[in-house]
Amino acid sequence: MWHERQRDRSENERDIVDKKQIASLLAAVPLPIVLIGPDERITQANSAAESLFGPGILDRHFITVMRQPDLLESIEAVLAGAGPRDTRYLGYEAGRETTYVVHCAPVVGEDDNISVLVSLDDVTAVEEAGQMRRDFVANVSHELRTPLTALSGFIETLRGAARDDAAARDRFLSIMENEAARMNRLVLDLLSLSRVEDDERQRPTATVDLSAQVNSVLQALRPFADDRDVTLRAELGEGPTNVIGDSDQLRQVVSNLTENAIKYGGKGGEVVVSITGPQEETALRAPGYRLIVRDNGDGIAPEHIARLTERFYRVDTHRSREMGGTGLGLAIVKHIVNRHRGRLKIESTLGQGSQFMVILPAATDPAG
Ligand code: ADP
Repeated sequence: MWHERQRDRSENERDIVDKKQIASLLAAVPLPIVLIGPDERITQANSAAESLFGPGILDRHFITVMRQPDLLESIEAVLAGAGPRDTRYLGYEAGRETTYVVHCAPVVGEDDNISVLVSLDDVTAVEEAGQMRRDFVANVSHELRTPLTALSGFIETLRGAARDDAAARDRFLSIMENEAARMNRLVLDLLSLSRVEDDERQRPTATVDLSAQVNSVLQALRPFADDRDVTLRAELGEGPTNVIGDSDQLRQVVSNLTENAIKYGGKGGEVVVSITGPQEETALRAPGYRLIVRDNGDGIAPEHIARLTERFYRVDTHRSREMGGTGLGLAIVKHIVNRHRGRLKIESTLGQGSQFMVILPAATDPAG
């Protein structure tokens, strides 16, 4: 008799421990999890679930907490003995929409009562990546279609109406050359972007003198600046400015930023490329150099600045195309700067000009 009582007691105690254990097991899971009892009330909810559905959801009827028809229907079906169900739940957290894949599974208790364990898997990042991929493919197709349509049109014209008109033929051929060059630039920028993205996680190891890269890029861009009546000036100071980097990629950063400053700085403007440092950089928590490309063009309105490094984002698509832009230059710059553990800061005042600043960690011994 005593033994039996003792066994009953320890079973009861075990029951209590089990309930506690269930709560702490659920608390240990990072996914939101809710257990709905046979009385349709919430009997367990971990803290991830409370931050999704709000605090104080214990003991409430699940309908007052979850509110989305698909999810309610699934829970009701599982409670009625239908077996596990998957559905989706759309949340709104910290100012953004989130998407969850929800698994509703029956948990059979004593007396064959059915509870439902609802676990939610946040798939927002996966959905966003999918959307980005679809947008990217649509953008690339659109960018390629424009010059392709022009090329096909001119080929047809050359075969027909302009066949025997030498002057028209020359004019059309030069337009076709421009369109082919635009496609070529786009493909080169796409390849460059994919290469940069590929090795973004691999830190560069060579020591590169930033000033030397600036000098050689400016030399190459001088004819481009002269064509547009833009004065190109370097302010580099004395001595080497060594960073740990990939020289080709750093040249590309200097080149993309300077080319933009020449293109958008406007006729008769001045573009200054400077390097300062090394100095302690709070953004890097280390000593760094600042590469600054400044123009005195029209500037960029504040609402565009945060989006400039998105692929294919342009303030004025027509103007960018006219200048031969692909809309990928700053996206490439951003990835290269990320790979170098640097920072890109863009400042601009409408009507006065823009400044693109890249802060790069200095090589450990900045003097050499
Ligand atoms: P694009 O090939 O169009 O130049 P980028 O990615 O290099 O593409 O730049 C994106 C957009 O940012 C440009 O289309 C332009 O609207 C804007 N932009 C970039 N640099 C400047 C600048 N120095 N002044 C004004 N606008 C700029």
